[in-house]
Amino acid sequence: MKTELKDPSALPTVPSPDAGSTVLKKVDWSDFRDHLATADKEGRRMWIHPRKPKGKLYDARKMVSWVLLVIMFAGPFIRIQGNPLLMINIVERKFVILGQVFWPQDLPIFAVAMLVFLTGIVIFTAAFGRLWCGWTCPQTVLMEMVFRRIEYWIEGDSHQQKALAKAPWTASKIAKKVGKQAVFFGLSFLIGNTLLAYIIGTEELQKIVTDNPMNHLKGLTFMVLFTLIFYGIFARFREQACTFICPYGRFQSTLLDENSIVVAYDHKRGEHRGILHRKETPAQRKEAGKGDCVDCKQCVTVCPTGIDIRDGTQMECVNCTACIDACDSVMSKVGRPTGLIRYASLNGIERGEKLRATPRLIGYGVVLVALIALFLYLLFTRSEVQTTLLRAPGALFQQMPNGKISNLYVVKLVNKTHREIPVEMKLENVQGEIRVMGRDLRIPAEKLVEVSVLIELDPSVLRSGNHPLQIGVYHGEKRIEKLKTVFVGPRASTVTQP
Ligand code: SF4
Ligand code: SF4
Repeated sequence: MKTELKDPSALPTVPSPDAGSTVLKKVDWSDFRDHLATADKEGRRMWIHPRKPKGKLYDARKMVSWVLLVIMFAGPFIRIQGNPLLMINIVERKFVILGQVFWPQDLPIFAVAMLVFLTGIVIFTAAFGRLWCGWTCPQTVLMEMVFRRIEYWIEGDSHQQKALAKAPWTASKIAKKVGKQAVFFGLSFLIGNTLLAYIIGTEELQKIVTDNPMNHLKGLTFMVLFTLIFYGIFARFREQACTFICPYGRFQSTLLDENSIVVAYDHKRGEHRGILHRKETPAQRKEAGKGDCVDCKQCVTVCPTGIDIRDGTQMECVNCTACIDACDSVMSKVGRPTGLIRYASLNGIERGEKLRATPRLIGYGVVLVALIALFLYLLFTRSEVQTTLLRAPGALFQQMPNGKISNLYVVKLVNKTHREIPVEMKLENVQGEIRVMGRDLRIPAEKLVEVSVLIELDPSVLRSGNHPLQIGVYHGEKRIEKLKTVFVGPRASTVTQP
């Protein structure tokens, strides 16, 4: 988008706000990237009191946010085939996505899923900029659609908030400030608990809440920690979380190009900006060299990150669309077409180009399709039971009283489903017997079972020394896994007859 203007003489000119003046002043776009809109020259935080947005896009975002908030808070309680919708249990290294249980053994699927996710982000951002940030990011949804609206409700719109901030500490001010912080803290507690439920599951969370606190000190510590973190973010840190912490915002400069669709100011139509004088007609404005921007700064006062979108695409912009609504409202009032600020690409604004598949997008797309294909292959060929078979340490082989040769193995079976699975092991490439020591092979739901297995072969089927073995793991008639190992036997001359 618009970048620094190297040649000062190339700076666009703007009619002076002095009524009737034809003197044009320079707009300096060269330094807006050198400082943050939310910090003063000494680097101190400047608190933002954005005006309450109004408009079609804000209403649409409210609807989307309601849906997302319901999903976000109900997520840990939604069950698919008995499993939660989403659970990232780092403690037990168990992950549930859309009701599917994943174990550490599914690491390759996870790795490919992460690559799909990251490539998808790259493509989506290259094409549509920060659409995610403005409409669906939990930080924006919670900040702008929950905490900010509560703030408007308790303290009023921007000018009332500024007045309250400057006012002396009266009983009314204390009540408003304390009330607001109490609501913020309560909400942060709710959000912190929801995050905890996504990590440890609702059953564990319920135990922490209802059991003796001394039995759940670790869980309680995380509950308090998450609450304080969310309270700090939404009550104090706010837009700075997007600017300083979120890596996605930092990626923008590498992901966006002149074809990316972002929230953008149409500088061709808007400049030269200038206030609208009473009874000034569009023809008079045109004659005076003025564009459609009436320099009312409504787009700036409504911005939750405090920037001026007319300076061009900036790292701080979360594409919340508040400035689009604000400017559309102004354009409607002054009788000009809406869309002076809109979703557009730089090429769209300068050359009227629509979103098109650039070689970069096509390249990313090919990689994404290949990764999705790999992911689906891994997912659909994923075994319900993961088996690991290792030779028992120590013993090589044993000759049994019946003359057969035996090898001892240790088998670990992980049941990735939410139902018990009985399995059976069969030798596939040689006649012999498999004996599971001490138990039958029923693997409880979502559990790991470790058993010792004795394999006995007749010496007549053995070649001298090592013998490759293929073992099938069956659930009913269906083979669910195929294992390979080595059977160690004696040299033919050393076998004794029973
Ligand atoms: S709201 Fe529109 S008209 Fe007003 S300053 Fe912003 S871009 Fe210009
Ligand atoms: S510039 Fe516009 S879209 Fe970007 S954060 Fe500010 S109000 Fe939202």
